[in-house]
Formats: sequence, structure tokens, C-alpha cells
Amino acid sequence: MLDKLKHITSPERVLTDKESLENYGKDWTKHIPVKALAVVLPKSTEEVVEIVLWARENKVALVPSGGRTGLSGAAIATKGEVVVSFDKMNKISDFDPIDKTVTCEAGVITEDLQNFAKENSLLYPVDFAARGSSQIGGNIATNAGGIKVIKYGLTRDWVAGLTVVTGTGEVLHLNNSLVKNASGYDLRHLIIGSEGTLGFITEATMRLTRPPAAEQVFILGVPKLDAVMNIFKAYTEKLPLLAFEMFTDMALEYVVKSTGLQRPFETKSKYYILLEIENDSDSTLETAMNLFETCTENGWVEDGAISQSPSQATDFWRLREDISEATSAFEPYKNDVSVRVSKVPEFLVQMDEILTREYPQFDVV
Ligand SMILES: Cc1cc2nc3c(=O)[nH]c(=O)nc-3n(C[C@H](O)[C@H](O)[C@H](O)COP(=O)(O)OP(=O)(O)OC[C@H]3O[C@@H](n4cnc5c(N)ncnc54)[C@H](O)[C@@H]3O)c2cc1C
Repeated sequence: MLDKLKHITSPERVLTDKESLENYGKDWTKHIPVKALAVVLPKSTEEVVEIVLWARENKVALVPSGGRTGLSGAAIATKGEVVVSFDKMNKISDFDPIDKTVTCEAGVITEDLQNFAKENSLLYPVDFAARGSSQIGGNIATNAGGIKVIKYGLTRDWVAGLTVVTGTGEVLHLNNSLVKNASGYDLRHLIIGSEGTLGFITEATMRLTRPPAAEQVFILGVPKLDAVMNIFKAYTEKLPLLAFEMFTDMALEYVVKSTGLQRPFETKSKYYILLEIENDSDSTLETAMNLFETCTENGWVEDGAISQSPSQATDFWRLREDISEATSAFEPYKNDVSVRVSKVPEFLVQMDEILTREYPQFDVV
């Protein structure tokens, strides 16, 4: 059976050794046992079609696999499936500076697309800590969000067109990179976020945009949770926010311990807000400083720091972005829960009560 698969691709692109099965068969989750039959690495949409037809004929289940940075076990092969990895489909092509679009094979690493955009004075704005290994196909399959959602939205907002191989081996070309497409159902949006259950994304045309003028990062120390929304409201009303992230002192403590990074200031606050603004005019920074003063006068903020250089901005970001990495040495039990922005503090208070009561042995990071 696997010989035929080797014939469709090539012998060296069908892996069955123990290490590869273990490596390709799982994602970032640690507690789910892996049981993959083989790993296949197609090089084209045509090969993916052949693999699907082979799987149907041999009644073998297939698991699409990207950078395997998912945290929910969705890319894990647990029942003798064949893992279809997109590692060999990583070409970037057909850049169009007028449409500001570029076509990526599914296995293009998120950071490679970001770098490609930068080289062309543009921005691919979906960004998160797993950028160095997650793939565009995986980002689309999970509708990844990340740290700039507040300004730029989710992966869904940046997909102009898709090529998909369905479970029957049919190839769908969805949306053809159009801005307005009134020709029928937009199945592109059904595929985005479908976690590999509806087919294989083999190629995607992604939109790019103008990069922000300059970024300025602030960290604010916040004593009380209810102040967070007041600060959010004050800043969004007056400034072009690129990011607004909140984390706890416990999260900061984990990061500082594991990375050796400095705390942003001496005051130990219960919560911290990292906010990034587009510093697009002389008055922007002045407005930001005035807002900081207002927030301090109101008792919402007890200390703060502003990045003085790009490298300090990167370090500030690491205090937020390295939380996953810093807690991964333990056995993190993660959820990806969405609530309306205005309900976040109320939600956190309720969650904290429940977790403290029901799971006293947990560190709620
Ligand atoms: C440190 C860290 C930080 C993270 N931060 C964020 C964050 O801020 N926001 C966020 O949304 N996520 C975040 N994630 C989760 C994860 O990185 C994203 O969900 C990412 O989009 C997954 O991409 P991947 O290529 O690693 O996909 P994988 O983990 O390989 O797969 C994820 C799902 O997509 C399917 N899939 C993969 N490729 C394809 C394809 N070509 N066709 C069809 N289905 C496919 C898989 O079967 C699986 O169901 C983070 C993860 C880590 C480790």
C-alpha cells in the first residue's frame, strides 16, 4: 500500500521511521499519544489529489499537517492515519504590487511571508509567537489571530484566494483573488477556520498592506482589572492602536525567570498592559503621554515605560510573547476563549473565581 504512495510522490518523501512518525504526528500538545502510519510530503496540488485518491482506495484517513504549532491537538495522528505535511510546498510566487497580493504554497512559513512583504515595502500583518514555524496553510485552517488583531483582524481578512483539494480529490479554486465577487457562494470562508476537516489547502493568495509609519510600545502597570477597559477606551478614542495586550504578574514572573529579561519597571503591578501605537505624527507621542498622565491621575495606572529603541520594543514584546514558551516546561492546560472586548474583565473575574475554587492546585497564569 505504501509502495504505491511512494510511486505517487517519491520513496524519500514517504517517511515511516519512528522519529519522523513521532515528530510529524503531533503538534505542541504533549498529552495525546501519537500513532501515525506514515508521513507523506507532497510537492504539488496534483500530488495531493493523487494522495487523496490513494487514501480513498485504501480506506486510510489523512491528517493535514502544517508547522504543528497548534495547541489543541488538531494536527495529531492518533489512529493510524497518514500525515500529509506541507513542508515541501513552500514557494512564494505571483507577487502583484498593484493588487498587493502574493501567492503562497500552503507550507510557506508565516515569517517568510512577513519577510517577503517587508522586502517589497509592504506588510503581512498577521503575527504571533509561532511565526517562525507555523505555515500559511495552518494559519488559514485555524483562522489564526495573533497580537495585531485589534488593528488588522484575523487571517480570514487577508485571504484573497484559495486552492483546495477536497476529500473526493476535487480541486477548488476559490475567489480568484477578487475584491468583489458576486458570482455565488463564497466557499473560501467555509474553508478558513475549518481545521483541515473539509480538505487540504494547497495554495493561497494573500493580501499585503502598507506598513505602519513607526511603532511605539508602552507597558503600563495596572493595579485593578476594571481599570483595563477604561485605559482601552481612553487610548482607542484618541490614538491609532496597533496592539493592546494584557497579562498578569504571574505570567511576567514566568517569563522573567525563564528568559532572564528585565521587568519593565520596579513597581510590581497585579496586571500589565502592553500597547503599541502607530507613531504617525509629532502630536501622537504627546497625546500618548497626556493619556498616560490622565490614566495615572485616575488611579488606573501605577507605573509605565515607553520603548526607547527598536531593541527595547522587541524586549517589551517578548514579555508578552514568551509566555507560551515560558510555561511550556510545565503542563499548560490552555483554552482559546473569545468574549466581546467589553466583557473581558468581567469574564476574567468569573474565571478566576471558578478556577481558584475548583482547581486550587493550578497556577492561573
Ligand atoms: C508560542 C505560540 C503562540 C501562538 N500564538 C497564537 C496566536 O496568537 N493566535 C493564534 O491564532 N494562534 C496562536 N498559536 C497557535 C498556532 O500557532 C496557530 O493556530 C497556527 O495558525 C497553526 O499553524 P500551523 O501551521 O502550525 O498548523 P498545525 O498546528 O500544523 O495545524 C493546525 C490545524 O490546521 C490543519 N492544517 C494545517 N495545514 C493545513 C492545510 N494545508 N490544509 C488544511 N488543513 C491544514 C491541521 O490539520 C490542524 O487541524 C500559537 C502557538 C504557539 C506555539
